[in-house]
Amino acid sequence: MPNYEWSCLACGNANCSGTSTCKDCGCSESASLQQIKTFRQNFVNTGGAILSSAGKLHEDGENEILTVFAKLILKIIVDPWLPSIKK
Ligand SMILES: [Zn+2]
Repeated sequence: MPNYEWSCLACGNANCSGTSTCKDCGCSESASLQQIKTFRQNFVNTGGAILSSAGKLHEDGENEILTVFAKLILKIIVDPWLPSIKK
């Protein structure tokens, strides 16, 4: 457990040094991304407000858009160079 005041990644509230779980949402200071998402969702469902210090979690949808965009760029750049291979 940290020996300094730490900010919860799930809810953003400050926690005292010497503690390893958030006093407000129960999330661990060493939680995985999935655990942070779960605790954050539970915290919101019980009326908790996420502070901006909690930071933004990457949503799956954002990665999907990036993947589609990357594939589109690759297609535009690479396709003209590969007609002989594809046919
Ligand atoms: Zn918390």
